Amino acid sequence: MINCDNEILYRVLRQYWGYDEFLPWQKEAMECVLTLRDSVVILPTGGGKSLCFQVPAMCMSGMALVVSPLISLMKDQVDSLKNAGVPAAFINSSMSSEEHRSCLADIRQDRIKILYIAPERLVMDSFIELLKQTKLSFIAVDEAHCISMWGHDFRPEYRELKTLKEVFPNINIHSYTATATELVCHDICKELNLISPKILTGSFDRPNLTYRIKHRDNVFDQICSVITNHNSESGIIYCIRRTDVDNLCSRLNQKGYKALPYHAGMMDQARRENQEAFINDRVDVIVATVAFGMGIDKSNVRYVIHAGMPKSLEHYQQETGRAGRDGLESECCLFFSYSDLMAWQRIMGDSDSETGKIALNKLNDMYNFCIDTTCRHRAILTYFGQRLDTQNCGACDACLEEPELMIDSIVIAQKIISCVVRLKNSDKGASSFGSAYIGRVLTGSRDQRILQASHDKLSTWGILTSEGKQNIRIWIEQLVMQGYLKRDDEYKTISVSEKGWCVIKNNETPRLTKPLKIHPERSLPQIATWEGVDNGLFNTLRVLRRNLAEEQNVPAYIVFGDSALKDMAMRRPSNLKEFLNVNGVGQKKWEIYGDIFVKAIVDYCTTNSIEMDTMPAPVITKASGNSSLSGVKPLAFELFSQGCSVNEAADKLDRATSTVFGYLEEYIRQEKLTSPAPWVDEKTFHLILEAADKVGVDRLKPIFDSLNGEISYDLIRISRACVG
Ligand code: ADP
Ligand code: ZN
Repeated sequence: MINCDNEILYRVLRQYWGYDEFLPWQKEAMECVLTLRDSVVILPTGGGKSLCFQVPAMCMSGMALVVSPLISLMKDQVDSLKNAGVPAAFINSSMSSEEHRSCLADIRQDRIKILYIAPERLVMDSFIELLKQTKLSFIAVDEAHCISMWGHDFRPEYRELKTLKEVFPNINIHSYTATATELVCHDICKELNLISPKILTGSFDRPNLTYRIKHRDNVFDQICSVITNHNSESGIIYCIRRTDVDNLCSRLNQKGYKALPYHAGMMDQARRENQEAFINDRVDVIVATVAFGMGIDKSNVRYVIHAGMPKSLEHYQQETGRAGRDGLESECCLFFSYSDLMAWQRIMGDSDSETGKIALNKLNDMYNFCIDTTCRHRAILTYFGQRLDTQNCGACDACLEEPELMIDSIVIAQKIISCVVRLKNSDKGASSFGSAYIGRVLTGSRDQRILQASHDKLSTWGILTSEGKQNIRIWIEQLVMQGYLKRDDEYKTISVSEKGWCVIKNNETPRLTKPLKIHPERSLPQIATWEGVDNGLFNTLRVLRRNLAEEQNVPAYIVFGDSALKDMAMRRPSNLKEFLNVNGVGQKKWEIYGDIFVKAIVDYCTTNSIEMDTMPAPVITKASGNSSLSGVKPLAFELFSQGCSVNEAADKLDRATSTVFGYLEEYIRQEKLTSPAPWVDEKTFHLILEAADKVGVDRLKPIFDSLNGEISYDLIRISRACVG
């Protein structure tokens, strides 16, 4: 039994990774490894799972085996480890036989501390024989949910790992996943035959992410408005299909945004180049299928857009998890439609098998999550079996934008429900219809099928024309969710439930929402800070990093992560000794890069007369918790009170102008200003007021449209703040 000694963990963490603190649960997870107790570690994406096994591997004698499902990622992970001075290697089918032989020789000579391997190879007899002659420290199973049918990424080859405990009875097994459901955890323990495992579960809440989930309605505009709000910040847009990726990407480029595609249909080389361009900030926007993002360590992704609905909440959590890894405020917008549900069902195909049914249930849960109108943070946590302690999360559309209910919900519901009844009565044979058809009847469509069936003669034909098809589809979904209408599982047709009849009799009032606003209109919660970071220096160091990475032909983050550069641009070390204190600078990187980075810092600071060797700001752990800091907003308010322009304030605060406009809106509301001067000139203000008079102040888009798109949303937004 090894005595668990925290000292050694801290020492190794600093020496190789250059970090001083553990993220939540990392220490406990590492202690399990050192004290020889099997474990299941459940942390959200970005929670720092890799270090949970990499650090102990460097504290123990022998070689750690890491089972990992993704061959494509092994190389990056191993490169990254080697660059930090950790003797690591991988074995997979992409290697040449020469590389393979040389790796086996390294293993035999105990030269490897961490070996990555795919599950199917691990259980091969010849390999087991080799391992039996090797001293193993422990086995880590990464992405352990792949072993469970209840997970979202079941891989049959993981089932082979069952035999590991028989073959290596004295070796501990530690498993890591971001899937937190109990069934999955239970399966992991059972399938790996873990012996009284310690189960560690971190919080799945990501308080720095603001979730917004809207019906899709001219998705291109919806996407553009999010990108515009995050001018020159990094963002990922996920699409369901490859063709959507290509289409969206070329439309964005036509419109002047710089975006690159990423999907499995592209050549490896092109894909890699696009990913690197994104990681290195040469391009702001990447449009991708879900294949993108696994294993990339880009911490400054400020927004994730889903142009279509993912197929499970696990996927949603994982993909949105790629935003805001640095703990800074970030936004996640999902634009969905009922057709996504249909599209996924088609893609999933036959759902008779058990795994097929599970996938279908997950898909339905995802759809219900989308059309729900309650707190998103809470809904996600509930799904993963956790609780949210606060009433109002302050970071989701439901909590921020209080979905407004239609005053005449009951009348609208009655119209929709009676249309369903009339349609049923009108048609003797095929007596049920789907929501799209019902929507078309209500909006007075002269569609061939409607005319043929004489449904244009029904009294409910066209009675909701002014509301628009899109809204009617939303309301039908809400009536289904609330149990007033029923949807047949197989044929997707809609019928009226008993509860629905109560609406007709005026005994029940459904909750139908006004269409949700598309545009983010609020500043996000303050989580971590860029206070004290010199933006110019940060950018200089990024360029330096990019050049070094290109020279060495590795991704930029393998040289240093953004958080390390940020810390350099804050501390501004003038010598090698100070440089070693930078968060993210371990011994090896200090030796390789110390001189060149210190020189760049000294040059920059001397040229710009900027102080060096400053005291570090308080460390803010990036993990969940309620560590909210409100540093920037008060400063912004202070600047506005001095009449500072938005651009100036954005520069000073190192925030995107969109964020600063958000602060300005809040400032105007708080101070109850009645004129937006000096931020909007008088003539523009008047034009906006005139338009608002015509189309109302509730929504920005009608005002924007009525001004022919000539005045920006930001100006409209802050002008509106002066009048209500
Ligand atoms: P996961 O596998 O859980 O998604 P990773 O292991 O990729 O997460 O870690 C996410 C990010 O957090 C990486 O950039 C990693 O370098 C960083 N990280 C991990 N542990 C620490 C720590 N103790 N201090 C600071 N950053 C850390
Ligand atoms: Zn909420």
